[in-house]
Amino acid sequence: MKSDIEISQTTKMDPIFEVAQKLDINADSLEQYGNYKAKVSVPLDPQNVKSKLVLVTSINPTSAGEGKTTVSVGLGDALSLLGQRIALALREPSLGPVMGLKGGATGGGYSQVVPMEDINLHFTGDFHAITEAHDTLAALVDNHIQHGNQLNIDPRQIVWKRVLDVNDRELRQTVIGLGGKTSGVPRQDGFDITVASEIMAILCLASDLEDLKRRISKIIIGYTYDGEVVTVADLKVQGALTLLLKDAIKPNLVQTLEHTPAFIHGGPFANIAHGCNSILATQAGLTTADYTVTEAGFGSDLGGEKFMDIASPAIGKRPDVVVVVATIRALKLNGGQDAKELKHEDLEALKAGVVNLKRHVQNMQQFGQPVVVGINKFATDSDAEVNFLHQYVADELHVAIAEVDCFSEGGKGAVDLANLVIENSETAFVSQNIYDADDSLVEKLTKVTQKVYGGKNVELTAAAKKQLKQIEKLGYAHLPVCMAKTQYSFSDDPKLLGAPSGFIITVRELQIKAGAGFIVAITGNILTMPGLPSHPAALDMDISADGTITGLF
Ligand code: ADP
Ligand code: MG
Repeated sequence: MKSDIEISQTTKMDPIFEVAQKLDINADSLEQYGNYKAKVSVPLDPQNVKSKLVLVTSINPTSAGEGKTTVSVGLGDALSLLGQRIALALREPSLGPVMGLKGGATGGGYSQVVPMEDINLHFTGDFHAITEAHDTLAALVDNHIQHGNQLNIDPRQIVWKRVLDVNDRELRQTVIGLGGKTSGVPRQDGFDITVASEIMAILCLASDLEDLKRRISKIIIGYTYDGEVVTVADLKVQGALTLLLKDAIKPNLVQTLEHTPAFIHGGPFANIAHGCNSILATQAGLTTADYTVTEAGFGSDLGGEKFMDIASPAIGKRPDVVVVVATIRALKLNGGQDAKELKHEDLEALKAGVVNLKRHVQNMQQFGQPVVVGINKFATDSDAEVNFLHQYVADELHVAIAEVDCFSEGGKGAVDLANLVIENSETAFVSQNIYDADDSLVEKLTKVTQKVYGGKNVELTAAAKKQLKQIEKLGYAHLPVCMAKTQYSFSDDPKLLGAPSGFIITVRELQIKAGAGFIVAITGNILTMPGLPSHPAALDMDISADGTITGLF
């Protein structure tokens, strides 16, 4: 079989205005970036939502990912084949993992969004604009201190770090301002990856330019010597930062290999941020399509929970149906098979690993709406393994299940899943919450730990307890929580696979994201600036003299 990039290079794309016409988006609402990409300004009317919303989430993945994007694209194409008007709403890839562990994030095989090279590299410049806005704010903070520090900012209590869209562990801890009087005030600093920036989260949650500016003005950059909060509004730079994002806030429109419209916009990671594409992209789908298919990052414990508790309230709608993507190989990994052996049949490991799927399905069922399972088929899955999984899901989980082979067949490989999605999205249900808005912060952390992770309890380190006191004192304790946690386990220990119980989630840091409107709880050893692996994907990439790209998956 051809590589992802070979498939995408040999497929002819439709001009983007034709793709837009499928959703009745006319030329006035389209700003073309070349022939195949466009920014869209869809007049949004959240009151007039006719589209069903389909959320795609998954089990705990292997390091390669379990195919949520691939299945989302295949499902979108399959629903198109069934005569529905479809919009996909997906995240933009980050260059950190593109060059590092995961490679591209535009689907795979015959279920991809294109032009994949552009989407995976600089696309329409949104991440650049976010990085620029974030670092401009950092520079303005240090400049304020250099020029007299009227706001009385304590340089030791600045919480606004710098960002880059690179996996670069060397930058986690830095010292800046060395070089004497004219080169700033020395202090300890550090970098996060752009997808962890609060500005990324804000861009993805903002309803329009005005809301974007309002949220940016609330960002806390640090504290004064007297412990008072210092915000962007105090620095009076919300206007400048917002204008740097005037184009980045508009959703991008591209297409799948089968010409289904796809809004790709924003890209917070689900292990260190909230993990969902922009609400504007999802709302663009909801106002123009019959079905909007959206993916939340990593498993139901991360992106799935955050979609329900953080993104949905901003979108103004819960999903009508949830698809939990599972692969035989990740279930076997969760059941104890060695990561290097996943190609080989191992029924015992599969039998031990299905508890992982069970908990993810039950997690999503807690929110009320119907749940279906999609098995993303790999060539290495044995018939015995697939049969066992069907039986288990029917007997033990009592939910509908479909095999998906869109990786090798495109949309027609996902028609069974598409039919299940249509059928289940008609079911009436009552939405449930796993925590209440007026629960205390500790209650929220505890409920997520117990109801979603299956853990025993949550513990705060001494440092986190101190931060909790401060959050309560400053009046931010009512905000929802955004957990930063490993994607590999329900617990905060990446090695605890399957469906562990009895564990404690350790919160070592609480960060107020006042503009985004949530409290980030950093658990275990999770880092907001990843590093590169021993064999980064970058080593296998190239571009020839005629501009042909290879190795970008
Ligand atoms: P996720 O969105 O869950 O992280 P992706 O859809 O990005 O997962 O898929 C992860 C990787 O696995 C990609 O490189 C993709 O091409 C590959 N992949 C997905 N589904 C299949 C499949 N059925 N067979 C082989 N490779 C697949
Ligand atoms: Mg993905």
